[in-house]
Amino acid sequence: MSAFGEGHGPVSLLWTGGWDSTFRLLQLVEDEGKVVQPYYVDDPERPSATIEKRTLRDLRLRIIEEGRAGAEQIKPPIILARPTLDSDDPILSAHAAINENTRLGNQYTWLAKAVEKAAVPAAEMSIKKGHLAHLFEPYLKAEAGAGDGAFRLSESSDPVPVLFRNFSFPLLGWTYDEVKDYAEQKGWNDVLSRTWFCANPIFSSKPCGTCTPCVQSIERPSRRPKIGALGILRYWLVVRVRRILPAAIAWRYQEAFRR
Ligand SMILES: [Zn+2]
Repeated sequence: MSAFGEGHGPVSLLWTGGWDSTFRLLQLVEDEGKVVQPYYVDDPERPSATIEKRTLRDLRLRIIEEGRAGAEQIKPPIILARPTLDSDDPILSAHAAINENTRLGNQYTWLAKAVEKAAVPAAEMSIKKGHLAHLFEPYLKAEAGAGDGAFRLSESSDPVPVLFRNFSFPLLGWTYDEVKDYAEQKGWNDVLSRTWFCANPIFSSKPCGTCTPCVQSIERPSRRPKIGALGILRYWLVVRVRRILPAAIAWRYQEAFRR
């Protein structure tokens, strides 16, 4: 285990309260003995924002209580407001160019702007192998002084490095199965089962059962937190029924359940 922070200041981690970024937090504090400064970008329009911020607080306390990190090792998360971007911001044109070939959510534009505005040093983004990794491959370079899986993008005026220039990608060399197995080996599953994933929680507290992360959790339950009876009921009523309906009706059927 290396010394806390190794004299370079805390590691900046984008922490959503979700599985992947919490896995990375555990690696940093427990495996690597680092001091971490988490960042959360707050989008008040996101239905899960309140519960995500609550999850960060609860997870931080739990990880410290379990002795996986000293209290000083996980700094209280810095909450950055979701920024607005000017229409001529290079981040927007880079995002539009990437989106000609790949579906890349809008959240990456405001994540990029938020870390740029706050001058967050090399914010770690917990993207695994497979998911978006193909975008980064042409630009990857190993980060000097970091473990051999921490990648930054080389400087270039191409859209991908422009959009992601302020980030590093420590999990890019890890597959879904590798992180799952590693978490199990390390005894992290209890902490990770308390992470948040639902994009559209009911009563600000219960997984909806119908958003993409909820559906993945139910259909690939090996590592995800539990959905609860209400979420499961909604999953069967909405997702499963929709799948057996003709396409023309299916969309309208799902819309009727939209919240
Ligand atoms: Zn959900």
